[in-house]
Amino acid sequence: MKKLAIILTILFLMLVAIYFLIFKPEKYPEKDLYDSILEKGVIKVGINTDSKPFGFFNEKWEIQGYDADLARYIAQYILKSPNAVEFYPVTPANRMLKVSTGEVDIVIATMTINKQRQEIIDFSVPYDAAGQALLVRSNSKITSLADLAGQNVGVIFGTTAEKNMLNLAPTANIIGFRNYRTAYQALKAGKIDALTSDDTILSRFVYEDKSVKLLPKRYTKEPYGIAFRKGKTTKRLKENIDFAIQDMQRKNVILRLRRKWLHA
Ligand code: GLU
Repeated sequence: MKKLAIILTILFLMLVAIYFLIFKPEKYPEKDLYDSILEKGVIKVGINTDSKPFGFFNEKWEIQGYDADLARYIAQYILKSPNAVEFYPVTPANRMLKVSTGEVDIVIATMTINKQRQEIIDFSVPYDAAGQALLVRSNSKITSLADLAGQNVGVIFGTTAEKNMLNLAPTANIIGFRNYRTAYQALKAGKIDALTSDDTILSRFVYEDKSVKLLPKRYTKEPYGIAFRKGKTTKRLKENIDFAIQDMQRKNVILRLRRKWLHA
Protein backbone atom coordinates (compact mmCIF):
# COMPACT_ATOMS: atom_id res chain seq x y z
CA MET A 1 0.00 0.00 0.00
CA LYS A 2 2.79 2.32 1.05
CA LYS A 3 4.73 1.44 -2.10
CA LEU A 4 1.72 2.26 -4.28
CA ALA A 5 1.33 5.65 -2.61
CA ILE A 6 5.00 6.46 -3.26
CA ILE A 7 4.71 5.36 -6.92
CA LEU A 8 1.55 7.44 -7.38
CA THR A 9 3.19 10.49 -5.78
CA ILE A 10 6.24 10.15 -8.05
CA LEU A 11 3.98 9.76 -11.08
CA PHE A 12 2.00 12.84 -10.07
CA LEU A 13 5.15 14.92 -9.60
CA MET A 14 6.45 13.75 -12.98
CA LEU A 15 3.20 14.78 -14.66
CA VAL A 16 3.38 18.21 -13.02
CA ALA A 17 7.00 18.60 -14.17
CA ILE A 18 6.08 17.57 -17.75
CA TYR A 19 3.16 20.01 -17.74
CA PHE A 20 5.44 22.88 -16.66
CA LEU A 21 8.10 21.86 -19.20
CA ILE A 22 5.66 21.74 -22.10
CA PHE A 23 3.36 24.66 -21.34
CA LYS A 24 5.70 26.92 -19.36
CA PRO A 25 2.71 28.63 -17.77
CA GLU A 26 3.29 32.16 -16.49
CA LYS A 27 3.05 32.44 -12.71
CA TYR A 28 0.35 35.04 -13.22
CA PRO A 29 -0.09 37.29 -16.21
CA GLU A 30 1.69 40.50 -15.30
CA LYS A 31 1.01 43.84 -16.84
CA ASP A 32 3.82 46.00 -18.13
CA LEU A 33 4.44 48.65 -15.47
CA TYR A 34 5.11 51.41 -17.99
CA ASP A 35 1.71 50.78 -19.62
CA SER A 36 -0.12 50.80 -16.31
CA ILE A 37 1.59 54.05 -15.28
CA LEU A 38 0.50 55.64 -18.58
CA GLU A 39 -3.00 54.32 -18.04
CA LYS A 40 -3.28 55.61 -14.47
CA GLY A 41 -1.58 58.87 -15.38
CA VAL A 42 0.51 58.84 -12.22
CA ILE A 43 3.76 57.34 -10.98
CA LYS A 44 4.20 56.15 -7.38
CA VAL A 45 7.58 57.18 -6.09
CA GLY A 46 9.17 55.96 -2.86
CA ILE A 47 11.26 58.75 -1.34
CA ASN A 48 13.15 59.47 1.89
CA THR A 49 11.38 62.06 4.01
CA ASP A 50 14.15 62.53 6.56
CA SER A 51 17.02 63.18 4.22
CA LYS A 52 17.43 66.88 3.57
CA PRO A 53 18.28 68.12 0.91
CA PHE A 54 17.16 65.03 -1.07
CA GLY A 55 13.74 64.23 0.36
CA PHE A 56 12.11 66.07 3.27
CA PHE A 57 8.89 67.79 4.35
CA ASN A 58 8.75 71.58 4.15
CA GLU A 59 6.70 73.76 6.55
CA LYS A 60 3.57 73.00 4.53
CA TRP A 61 4.16 69.26 4.85
CA GLU A 62 4.99 68.95 1.17
CA ILE A 63 7.79 66.70 0.04
CA GLN A 64 10.70 68.65 -1.32
CA GLY A 65 14.30 68.19 -2.34
CA TYR A 66 16.65 67.02 -5.05
CA ASP A 67 15.06 63.55 -5.34
CA ALA A 68 11.57 65.09 -5.31
CA ASP A 69 12.52 67.43 -8.18
CA LEU A 70 14.00 64.49 -10.05
CA ALA A 71 10.70 62.60 -9.63
CA ARG A 72 8.77 65.59 -10.96
CA TYR A 73 11.05 65.87 -13.98
CA ILE A 74 10.52 62.17 -14.70
CA ALA A 75 6.75 62.62 -14.38
CA GLN A 76 6.97 65.50 -16.85
CA TYR A 77 9.06 63.38 -19.23
CA ILE A 78 6.81 60.31 -19.09
CA LEU A 79 3.37 61.72 -18.24
CA LYS A 80 3.75 65.32 -19.44
CA SER A 81 3.01 66.78 -16.02
CA PRO A 82 5.40 67.46 -13.12
CA ASN A 83 2.50 66.83 -10.74
CA ALA A 84 1.72 63.32 -11.92
CA VAL A 85 3.66 61.92 -8.96
CA GLU A 86 2.46 60.33 -5.74
CA PHE A 87 5.13 60.26 -3.05
CA TYR A 88 5.36 57.43 -0.53
CA PRO A 89 7.78 57.69 2.39
CA VAL A 90 10.43 54.97 2.46
CA THR A 91 13.44 54.41 4.69
CA PRO A 92 16.83 52.96 3.76
CA ALA A 93 15.77 49.79 5.59
CA ASN A 94 12.46 49.17 3.80
CA ARG A 95 12.84 50.69 0.32
CA MET A 96 14.00 47.49 -1.43
CA LEU A 97 10.98 45.63 -0.11
CA LYS A 98 8.58 48.42 -1.07
CA VAL A 99 9.77 48.45 -4.67
CA SER A 100 10.00 44.67 -5.05
CA THR A 101 6.48 44.11 -3.78
CA GLY A 102 5.11 46.79 -6.11
CA GLU A 103 3.92 49.05 -3.30
CA VAL A 104 5.73 51.80 -5.18
CA ASP A 105 6.65 51.88 -8.90
CA ILE A 106 10.14 53.24 -8.33
CA VAL A 107 12.35 54.44 -5.48
CA ILE A 108 14.28 57.70 -5.74
CA ALA A 109 16.16 57.94 -2.45
CA THR A 110 19.91 58.59 -2.72
CA MET A 111 20.20 54.90 -3.32
CA THR A 112 23.62 53.50 -4.13
CA ILE A 113 23.87 51.11 -7.07
CA ASN A 114 25.84 48.04 -6.04
CA LYS A 115 26.15 44.35 -6.96
CA GLN A 116 24.51 43.06 -3.80
CA ARG A 117 21.39 45.14 -4.35
CA GLN A 118 21.34 44.31 -8.06
CA GLU A 119 20.71 40.69 -7.12
CA ILE A 120 17.33 41.79 -5.79
CA ILE A 121 16.33 44.93 -7.71
CA ASP A 122 17.24 46.82 -10.90
CA PHE A 123 18.70 50.31 -11.15
CA SER A 124 18.60 53.12 -13.67
CA VAL A 125 21.79 54.63 -15.04
CA PRO A 126 23.45 56.74 -12.31
CA TYR A 127 22.09 60.25 -11.88
CA ASP A 128 24.59 61.49 -9.28
CA ALA A 129 27.23 60.17 -6.90
CA ALA A 130 28.44 60.55 -3.33
CA GLY A 131 31.15 59.16 -1.08
CA GLN A 132 30.98 57.81 2.46
CA ALA A 133 32.22 60.35 4.99
CA LEU A 134 32.44 60.90 8.75
CA LEU A 135 30.57 63.62 10.60
CA VAL A 136 31.95 64.52 14.04
CA ARG A 137 31.52 67.31 16.59
CA SER A 138 33.69 70.32 15.73
CA ASN A 139 35.81 69.86 18.85
CA SER A 140 36.29 66.12 18.22
CA LYS A 141 39.74 64.53 18.28
CA ILE A 142 38.69 62.04 15.63
CA THR A 143 40.50 62.73 12.37
CA SER A 144 40.35 59.39 10.57
CA LEU A 145 39.02 55.82 10.66
CA ALA A 146 41.92 54.76 12.88
CA ASP A 147 40.56 56.98 15.66
CA LEU A 148 37.25 55.14 15.68
CA ALA A 149 38.54 52.12 17.62
CA GLY A 150 36.34 51.70 20.70
CA GLN A 151 34.26 54.77 19.76
CA ASN A 152 30.51 54.81 19.22
CA VAL A 153 29.77 55.30 15.54
CA GLY A 154 26.24 55.91 14.29
CA VAL A 155 24.92 54.45 11.05
CA ILE A 156 21.45 54.45 9.52
CA PHE A 157 19.93 50.96 9.27
CA GLY A 158 19.89 49.64 5.71
CA THR A 159 22.52 51.98 4.28
CA THR A 160 25.71 50.99 2.50
CA ALA A 161 27.60 52.76 5.31
CA GLU A 162 26.14 50.33 7.84
CA LYS A 163 27.60 47.39 5.87
CA ASN A 164 30.89 49.12 5.02
CA MET A 165 31.70 49.96 8.61
CA LEU A 166 32.23 46.31 9.48
CA ASN A 167 35.26 46.37 7.15
CA LEU A 168 36.29 49.99 7.51
CA ALA A 169 36.31 50.16 11.31
CA PRO A 170 35.83 46.66 12.75
CA THR A 171 36.78 47.75 16.27
CA ALA A 172 34.29 50.60 16.50
CA ASN A 173 30.96 50.18 18.33
CA ILE A 174 28.43 50.48 15.56
CA ILE A 175 25.09 51.91 16.66
CA GLY A 176 22.15 51.78 14.27
CA PHE A 177 19.49 54.49 13.90
CA ARG A 178 16.22 54.46 12.01
CA ASN A 179 16.66 57.97 10.63
CA TYR A 180 19.08 60.88 10.30
CA ARG A 181 17.27 63.10 12.77
CA THR A 182 17.72 60.77 15.73
CA ALA A 183 21.29 59.89 14.71
CA TYR A 184 22.18 63.56 14.53
CA GLN A 185 20.62 64.28 17.92
CA ALA A 186 22.68 61.42 19.38
CA LEU A 187 25.85 62.92 17.91
CA LYS A 188 25.07 66.34 19.36
CA ALA A 189 24.25 64.82 22.75
CA GLY A 190 27.53 62.90 22.84
CA LYS A 191 25.83 59.50 22.71
CA ILE A 192 27.80 58.71 19.57
CA ASP A 193 31.22 60.07 18.59
CA ALA A 194 30.74 60.03 14.82
CA LEU A 195 28.00 59.56 12.27
CA THR A 196 28.81 58.00 8.93
CA SER A 197 26.89 58.11 5.66
CA ASP A 198 27.02 59.84 2.26
CA ASP A 199 28.83 63.20 2.19
CA THR A 200 25.94 64.68 0.18
CA ILE A 201 23.53 63.93 3.02
CA LEU A 202 25.82 64.78 5.95
CA SER A 203 26.97 68.11 4.44
CA ARG A 204 23.61 69.61 5.18
CA PHE A 205 24.23 69.34 8.93
CA VAL A 206 27.49 71.27 8.60
CA TYR A 207 25.77 73.81 6.44
CA GLU A 208 23.16 74.47 9.11
CA ASP A 209 25.20 73.96 12.26
CA LYS A 210 28.84 74.87 12.84
CA SER A 211 29.14 72.71 15.94
CA VAL A 212 29.71 69.69 13.68
CA LYS A 213 32.22 69.08 10.89
CA LEU A 214 32.69 66.68 8.02
CA LEU A 215 36.11 65.03 7.81
CA PRO A 216 37.71 65.46 4.37
CA LYS A 217 38.32 61.81 3.50
CA ARG A 218 35.83 59.77 1.40
CA TYR A 219 35.91 56.01 1.90
CA THR A 220 33.70 54.75 -0.91
CA LYS A 221 32.08 55.68 -4.22
CA GLU A 222 28.28 55.74 -4.07
CA PRO A 223 26.67 56.14 -7.50
CA TYR A 224 22.98 56.98 -7.09
CA GLY A 225 20.36 55.13 -9.12
CA ILE A 226 16.59 54.92 -9.30
CA ALA A 227 15.38 51.50 -8.16
CA PHE A 228 12.90 49.21 -9.94
CA ARG A 229 11.39 45.85 -9.24
CA LYS A 230 13.39 43.22 -11.11
CA GLY A 231 11.91 41.55 -14.19
CA LYS A 232 10.45 42.05 -17.64
CA THR A 233 7.48 44.12 -16.49
CA THR A 234 9.71 47.03 -15.50
CA LYS A 235 12.05 46.91 -18.52
CA ARG A 236 10.28 49.58 -20.56
CA LEU A 237 9.85 51.83 -17.55
CA LYS A 238 13.57 51.57 -16.83
CA GLU A 239 14.42 52.36 -20.49
CA ASN A 240 12.26 55.45 -20.41
CA ILE A 241 13.64 56.62 -17.08
CA ASP A 242 17.18 56.09 -18.35
CA PHE A 243 16.26 58.33 -21.30
CA ALA A 244 14.85 60.91 -18.90
CA ILE A 245 18.08 60.93 -16.85
CA GLN A 246 20.22 61.24 -19.98
CA ASP A 247 17.98 64.09 -21.12
CA MET A 248 18.47 65.82 -17.74
CA GLN A 249 22.21 65.40 -18.01
CA ARG A 250 22.24 66.82 -21.56
CA LYS A 251 20.10 69.80 -20.62
CA ASN A 252 22.09 70.54 -17.46
CA VAL A 253 19.07 69.86 -15.27
CA ILE A 254 21.21 67.71 -12.94
CA LEU A 255 23.76 70.50 -12.71
CA ARG A 256 21.00 72.93 -11.73
CA LEU A 257 19.62 70.49 -9.15
CA ARG A 258 23.10 70.17 -7.62
CA ARG A 259 23.40 73.97 -7.43
CA LYS A 260 19.93 74.39 -6.00
CA TRP A 261 20.09 71.65 -3.36
CA LEU A 262 23.74 70.78 -2.74
CA HIS A 263 25.22 74.28 -3.05
CA ALA A 264 27.64 72.62 -5.50
N1 GLU B 1 23.60 55.99 -0.50
C1 GLU B 1 23.45 55.26 0.72
C2 GLU B 1 22.74 53.95 0.46
O1 GLU B 1 22.22 53.73 -0.58
C3 GLU B 1 22.73 56.07 1.79
C4 GLU B 1 21.34 56.41 1.38
C5 GLU B 1 20.38 56.93 2.42
O2 GLU B 1 20.74 57.20 3.56
O3 GLU B 1 19.23 57.06 2.03
O4 GLU B 1 22.70 53.11 1.32
